Amino acid sequence: MDDCIFCKIVAGKIPAKKLGENEGAIAFPDIKPEMPVHILVIPKRHLASLDEVGDGTVMAPVFALAAQDGTVMAPVFALAAQVAREQGLDKTGWRAVINTGRDANQVVFHLHLHVFGGRRMSWPPG
Ligand code: 5GP
Ligand code: ZN
Repeated sequence: MDDCIFCKIVAGKIPAKKLGENEGAIAFPDIKPEMPVHILVIPKRHLASLDEVGDGTVMAPVFALAAQDGTVMAPVFALAAQVAREQGLDKTGWRAVINTGRDANQVVFHLHLHVFGGRRMSWPPG
């Protein structure tokens, strides 16, 4: 998509330090880290949000994660786990976050998964 910042990163038009890549996803550091480790994992294919995975109903995206295994989300989760391990987060713990829509404060509408780690986190999120 022409005016999508993350599509530009996928296309190499905006620089980002590539921390990992597989057939369907790439990982790079968040430009404004909120945690000692703050990595974004995004599908190469433009999807505005998790709401576009599946048939568009509220729960479909959750089930679609399984149904679309190997296409959109599987590479994203696989790469998230890989970069988390490479950062040593498997020893201490980490959090995967996909902000979806207004109430979750999604700002960039190219589906992305945040990998957070490196310090103790609170729950629930604000
Ligand atoms: P959201 O609230 O949509 O889940 O988070 C979007 C994230 O993208 C924010 O944490 C923001 O810092 C990050 N971000 C926005 N523009 C860029 C960019 O050009 N490069 C990188 N690496 N991260 C970005
Ligand atoms: Zn995009």
